[in-house]
Amino acid sequence: MPLPLNEKRCHVCGQKSLRHVRRPFEYEVSHDGRRPVRIHIPDLEVIACTNHDCHPEHPDDTVIEDEQATWRITIETYRQLGLLTPEEIRSQRERLGLTQQELQELLGLGGNTLSRWENGRVYQSRSLDTLMRIVFGMSGALSYTRGLHHTRQVERAENRPKVQ
Ligand SMILES: [Zn+2]
Repeated sequence: MPLPLNEKRCHVCGQKSLRHVRRPFEYEVSHDGRRPVRIHIPDLEVIACTNHDCHPEHPDDTVIEDEQATWRITIETYRQLGLLTPEEIRSQRERLGLTQQELQELLGLGGNTLSRWENGRVYQSRSLDTLMRIVFGMSGALSYTRGLHHTRQVERAENRPKVQ
């Protein structure tokens, strides 16, 4: 079992002075080939050394971003970029009764693109975000997309060279 936080030692001062604290966090992210956007989180919960005698060369040396903090940064980045979050993509897809594979084909995506979006590993482009919002939110858009996908498949099958 991992040590509780108050039993762990700060890697700078060696004291058992690590605690969860909230502090502002900012970083810049480039998305979609646009100018970088500054993401601001006023109260990110991180692990920090609370020993006043601990003076690391860089203040961030005693701040540890755990998995929870990393995920919060990811989600806030989606929100502040104006994109559907991974959880929103997943729940909307499930609401329509679509598998990842089905939605991926309807949107014309390759590989494991959709699963990467739903795991928060890749940010979808703005244009595909818009397309998803239309499919999720506009009545008739899903059946239109299905019809388009079906027509293309039929055309592709008809254009395939016939085996002699
Ligand atoms: Zn310390």
